[in-house]
Amino acid sequence: MTNSSPAQLIDGIALSREIRADIAHRTSLLKQKGITPGLAVVLVGDNQASQVYVRNKVKACADAGLHSVLEQYPASMSEDDLLARIDALNTDASIHGILVQLPLPAHIDAQKVIEAIAPSKDVDGFHVNSAGALMVGRPGFWPCTPYGCMKMLESIGFDLKGKHAVVIGRSNIVGKPMALMLLQKNATVTICHSGTKDLKAMTLQADVIVAAVGKVNVLTADMVKPGAVVIDVGMNRNALGKLCGDVDFEGVKQVASYITPVPGGVGPMTITMLLVNTVEAAERLAAGG
Ligand code: NAP
Repeated sequence: MTNSSPAQLIDGIALSREIRADIAHRTSLLKQKGITPGLAVVLVGDNQASQVYVRNKVKACADAGLHSVLEQYPASMSEDDLLARIDALNTDASIHGILVQLPLPAHIDAQKVIEAIAPSKDVDGFHVNSAGALMVGRPGFWPCTPYGCMKMLESIGFDLKGKHAVVIGRSNIVGKPMALMLLQKNATVTICHSGTKDLKAMTLQADVIVAAVGKVNVLTADMVKPGAVVIDVGMNRNALGKLCGDVDFEGVKQVASYITPVPGGVGPMTITMLLVNTVEAAERLAAGG
């Protein structure tokens, strides 16, 4: 079954532009008090994709008037040396947010490094303190990607109360926090994963579907209830080498009411929410906590 008209796009670039304008404004207010929000981005190794991501993050900071530093280290860096750098950044007054780009080389325990970041500077929202705060509904930092998805739902005025949300994927950085955020907005949430027996039976019940798997065409038109809202977190390459999401965009857009594109959807929102968290960290410090 198809929807009466094709889905409307939720444009992550346009929404990012709006939010980043607000970030620039909040940054200028902080600067009037002598505070420039600062982000430290730490990259270990020479992963090509990571290099692109960190450059984009640093550029986004500069565009919004934030201070940023990019620390790049060879893949041979020891865990102890990295922990010492995190320690130094924790006490650096010009830095309000610390982001360690993942993945880290195999000899470094990524969770140990994340736990070394001061929770007040955990702008990626991956520290257990941040995860716990989200779990119990206390102030903290929300992981940027699911936070960006929530902003996209908010932008279309989608009231989650009583709606059935299906999240496909249960990673600590996307799927699980996404489910908790949807729950916090009073959706009824189902989390699917590689062990889910009948994914289609789950997604067909959904008013909103968030696909965060990392596989092309995980969600096709026959799996979507007409009028559902579809958020595509996936970042994959199709057979032609073109960037695409987890969702069969052309098919699903005939059924859904709203859909996010890839590229131009969740990706830019992730960086935008990193800026939001960094400015928030600086504002909290300025407010004395
Ligand atoms: P991940 O850690 O690999 O998690 C993938 C999840 O998908 C796992 O929970 C896995 O289940 C589940 N899964 C795998 N195959 C499945 C299937 N056939 N049916 C249902 N569930 C299945 O990945 P991630 O870090 O969450 O990222 C997911 C995708 O989002 C990737 O493409 C990544 O590149 C993209 N991403 C994009 C952004 C952005 O800014 N746009 C940010 C972060 C991630 P199990 O737990 O059972 O293994």
